[in-house]
Amino acid sequence: MAKKHGGALPVKKNDLIQLTIEDLTHEGHGVGKVDGYPLFIPNALPGEKINVKVIKTSKNYGFGRLMEWHEKSPNRVEPPCPVYDRCGGCQLQHLSYDGQLAAKQKQVQDVMARIGKLPHVPVHPTMGMEEPWRYRNKSQVPLGMSNGSVIAGFYAKRSHEIVDVNHCIIQEKVSDEVMSLVKQKANELGIQPYDETHHKGVLRHVVIRYGRTTGEVMVILVTRTNDVPHMMELIDVLKENIKGLTSIIHNVNKQKTNVIMGEKTTTLWGRDVIYDSIGDIRFAISARSFYQVNPVQTEVLYKKALEYTQLTGEESVVDAYCGIGTISLFLAQKAKKVYGVEIVEQAIEDAKQNAELNGIDNAEFEAGPAEVVIPKWHKEGKKADVIVVDPPRKGCDEALLATILAMKPKRVVYVSCNPGTLARDLRVLEEGGYETVEVQPVDMFPQTSHVECVAQIVLKND
Ligand code: SAH
Repeated sequence: MAKKHGGALPVKKNDLIQLTIEDLTHEGHGVGKVDGYPLFIPNALPGEKINVKVIKTSKNYGFGRLMEWHEKSPNRVEPPCPVYDRCGGCQLQHLSYDGQLAAKQKQVQDVMARIGKLPHVPVHPTMGMEEPWRYRNKSQVPLGMSNGSVIAGFYAKRSHEIVDVNHCIIQEKVSDEVMSLVKQKANELGIQPYDETHHKGVLRHVVIRYGRTTGEVMVILVTRTNDVPHMMELIDVLKENIKGLTSIIHNVNKQKTNVIMGEKTTTLWGRDVIYDSIGDIRFAISARSFYQVNPVQTEVLYKKALEYTQLTGEESVVDAYCGIGTISLFLAQKAKKVYGVEIVEQAIEDAKQNAELNGIDNAEFEAGPAEVVIPKWHKEGKKADVIVVDPPRKGCDEALLATILAMKPKRVVYVSCNPGTLARDLRVLEEGGYETVEVQPVDMFPQTSHVECVAQIVLKND
């Protein structure tokens, strides 16, 4: 874009300009253009006319600060959270929920056209929640020290500074209770929170997991040291005060790292797992297993994925990037056979146990990279009528896409947490003889800018 200006940018640092916001980035920043040069403006919304101070410029884009409104978006709302400005957890609380759903749909439409070269693919309105608050079943709360007191909350935007909070309105209420209680007791008992800079102190994180359909609660105390002073008192106060508590876990993380949990996990009280169900399938969730954070919308997403597979009971299905087998087990009820593959060995162990827990005997799981295991299956002569993929943000590995094209399943169902890589991979499938029928965004993360989609893809002329 800079070329258009012969090297000179249309704005420079500290310029005061008027701008009309046209779009929203995937981080939730407003975008306006000056002679085609995009400026990103935190907190600005599409349709708004504003005064902006240019803060930073680089070759292809710049950043500005919203100084004053000439015209506000009708979709602008007062963010209900008092620390919304500082906390890094949410990005879209200043946009009405309908506005959020529409923005997510538009974002998917835009990348389908731009990256997927699929401007005509139907992208449906985002399926949202009736009550888009208090949905998170897992909270990971760092503890720290400020002015001589223990604080607990969430990291500020792009930082490891802890914003002290007692209520987080996107997490389950029980998380608020545990978070406040642990903070209060740590203060009273003099349990030192972890000091990241000096790698000192004891209590690093408290992690809360909740089984929505069972009401079961797991509390995981992550500490730097094996020994924790006053641990028994802490356990007692949790047992006395937290309704539904079924499990208290101790995890030791001695490393200087951003990774929350360490290798050593012991059960201090109660069970090793809590249970939750999605649809008819029951899952055992241990301290470290991956589990979707919004169980209500997970069911909506999986139902859509199941619909897109069009299973009749005769099909052989491959579920790539299967995690603890959530999608695999959901599909196994309607398929002849499901093969799940996942890179984390512990998740595969969980998947096998979850199959057993539900009496499902037509699902098989193998640990390994999908791009290695599925080509191996293909070589061995395994057939797939349907392949489901649910990769991490970077999308599918090229080798996996090539294998899908070689295996020629009748249908591919692509679950994605990153519309950009989804669109890129759909293009590869299109070139290989597939057609994208439709894309359905599902709001798994209300108030945040994360976008989840499921796409139905079919083999052409078959
Ligand atoms: N389908 C599951 C998990 C999706 S998250 C669910 O809905 O719950 C994506 C998963 O891909 C993670 O579990 C991650 O461990 C796994 N993964 C990442 N890279 C992989 C690879 N190369 N091969 C197989 N699995 C991989």
